[in-house]
Amino acid sequence: MSTFRFQSLKESSRRQTVEVKELDRKSIIFGSNVFNDKAMRQFLTSEAYKAVKGAVQHGSKIDRKLADYIAMGMKEWALSKGVTHYTHWFQPLTGATAEKHDAFFETSFDGLDPVEKFGGSQLVQQEPDASSFPNGGIRNTFEARGYTAWDPTSPAFIYGTTLCIPTVFVSYTGEALDNKAPLLRALSAIDDAATEVARYFDKNVKKVTPTLGWEQEYFLIDSALAASRPDILLTGRTLLGHTSAKGQQLEDHYFGSIPTRVLNYMRDLENECMLLGIPVKTRHNEVAPNQFELAPIFEETNLAVDHNSLLMDVMQKVAERHFFKVLFHEKPFKGVNGSGKHNNWSLATDTGINLLAPGKTPMSNLQFLTFFINTIKAVHVYEELMRASIASASNDHRLGANEAPPAIISVFIGQQLFKVLENLENVTDGKLSPEEKTDLKLNVVGKIPDVLLDNTDRNRTSPFAFTGNKFEFRAVGSSANCAVSMTTLNSIVARQLIDFKKEVDALIEGKDLKKDEAIFNVLREYIKQTKAILFEGDGYSDDWQVEAAKRKLSNHKTTPEALKAKVSKKAMDLFEGLGVMNHVEVEARYEIELEEYTKKIQIEGRVLGDIARNHVIPTAIKYQNTLIENVKGLKEIFGNEFEQIAKEQIVLIKEISAHIEGINSNVEAMTEERKTANNLASAEQMAAAYCDTVKPYFDVIREHCDKLELLVDDETWTLTKYRELLFTR
Ligand code: ADP
Ligand code: MG
Repeated sequence: MSTFRFQSLKESSRRQTVEVKELDRKSIIFGSNVFNDKAMRQFLTSEAYKAVKGAVQHGSKIDRKLADYIAMGMKEWALSKGVTHYTHWFQPLTGATAEKHDAFFETSFDGLDPVEKFGGSQLVQQEPDASSFPNGGIRNTFEARGYTAWDPTSPAFIYGTTLCIPTVFVSYTGEALDNKAPLLRALSAIDDAATEVARYFDKNVKKVTPTLGWEQEYFLIDSALAASRPDILLTGRTLLGHTSAKGQQLEDHYFGSIPTRVLNYMRDLENECMLLGIPVKTRHNEVAPNQFELAPIFEETNLAVDHNSLLMDVMQKVAERHFFKVLFHEKPFKGVNGSGKHNNWSLATDTGINLLAPGKTPMSNLQFLTFFINTIKAVHVYEELMRASIASASNDHRLGANEAPPAIISVFIGQQLFKVLENLENVTDGKLSPEEKTDLKLNVVGKIPDVLLDNTDRNRTSPFAFTGNKFEFRAVGSSANCAVSMTTLNSIVARQLIDFKKEVDALIEGKDLKKDEAIFNVLREYIKQTKAILFEGDGYSDDWQVEAAKRKLSNHKTTPEALKAKVSKKAMDLFEGLGVMNHVEVEARYEIELEEYTKKIQIEGRVLGDIARNHVIPTAIKYQNTLIENVKGLKEIFGNEFEQIAKEQIVLIKEISAHIEGINSNVEAMTEERKTANNLASAEQMAAAYCDTVKPYFDVIREHCDKLELLVDDETWTLTKYRELLFTR
């Protein structure tokens, strides 16, 4: 007998390690497929070069004539590297990236004058077929027009034989149809707000840049094995499968060496990343079997977001060469750890200071505390919005399930800083005496060690943790586009810093306080107000759920519930007030995310029903028939004695029937619930119905299937098993 499962197992067991082409040293090849500073200097006129630089550094506009020159230089550079096509590369609201390739090649209508053409207008603007991207009702179909516009702050790059130009995607009425446009607006908002506050401490600061260093977790599965599982193929995760006897208990994967086949995949991938200017630095095994992590050196946030989106694409493509499939799903396997994408975040000034790193002097430490406490306050005020920013059908399996981090947003800061905040709470109201000031400087602010980085205790269960010189938003899902969480985080901190500045200035002017007195006074109040968000304990514990409820922190365990915060008045005021998104853009995103949630659960329901009925039941019946034949034979030989002799077989036959019944009746009931859900009027109602009435069947159906997997003869089972998926290298 040779089912697809056994063919796939054979194929995967015969895999050879794929050799990797050796490239030059990393420092030499780094960014060689990027239209970076070096390439620009070589291929652009000095005027064109200055125009790009001005746009990157000060957001200045590039006029049409210069755009033509830039396009010409870009084209020459691309042609010199064998490029034939160009595309406007963008991030539609589906989460993935999109591109439409056009050839440089053109001729006149009579076929004469063949030439490679690419001008300013093609560089600056393009019109992809916008009707095929989700828009949440922003565009009516009769004006299904949207355009992509060049984002000069993220350099063009070559992938394959295509020149990719990072762009934003907007409707003709000006609303953002993508993830990048709101992000750029949020980054500009926090730049303005943080620069104002940083200037309390150093008048030379002219720009503040939010930085992002993501850590991408993923699973690698042999491509033949992945293809043998319809659920992995269609939903990115296993919808059924009994847990393997051996899972991650021994942690031997985490501490073991990287398997050779995987190592070669990683080397190949890192080479590609180097060419594309993605500064990947660390690679290692993760806790679960076949789970790995990749992290770069942090970058300016917009570029880091682009690099992560690009990377996810590149990872899958390189994996094909090595006969792997990458699983980005947050929870591909039941019973083993899921995957996240920690977003490490900080703020850097153009004077070279990390605003979230403690300094060497009391004043620089006050600056650190200012940004530190304002961030905590922002997260406290907008904790629900933070939770909403990471909500998705797939991330629901981590947040709020039995896995970290919890659906409750809290901030971990470590004991040392906890004590500093406790001390600051006692700062005198109003003017400070010289003694008080000295005491503050020497004993409180001055006590923050600049080596905090190495001393910070780590709390792996916290969704938002301070780690010495940055905050780490750990609850972000592995399949997410970081733009969404980064737009939220940077917006809420921007809002908070604006409010902070107003309060401090009011104290300076109204109460005649010195600047540092005013800052101390406002920070003291913030510390008092934000205590509820600070949590140093075990985020996975049941106690925390109870405690968090007492503290009035939200605990939205499902996406439909969590997403509501996105359209609250508070969120609207935030985004509109900062000019990050208007209410149409906010509502459109809400609509799209609900729809996406519904579709994902809908697909999972269909696939599960299909596998349960068309794989599991026929296999179970086949095996049951063997048992029946066996019982019949025993009866023939032993006559009346057979009942005793065939006792176990008869029990099995009945058990199998009971599970088949269980599957059938539940698949039927689930299908009915789906039909009911499909007829609901609004996206909100549909998502809620899929969550509350359709999804609960998944576990019930799975339970029956997984029991059958244990009962049925291994030889006849058609679906590749957990142990095979997780332990094949
Ligand atoms: P881990 O969380 O696994 O212990 P580290 O604390 O070493 O790892 O840091 C992980 C990530 O933090 C890296 O990807 C790095 O790029 C990022 N990072 C470090 N400093 C900053 C910063 N100032 N801003 C943003 N990200 C940063
Ligand atoms: Mg981390």
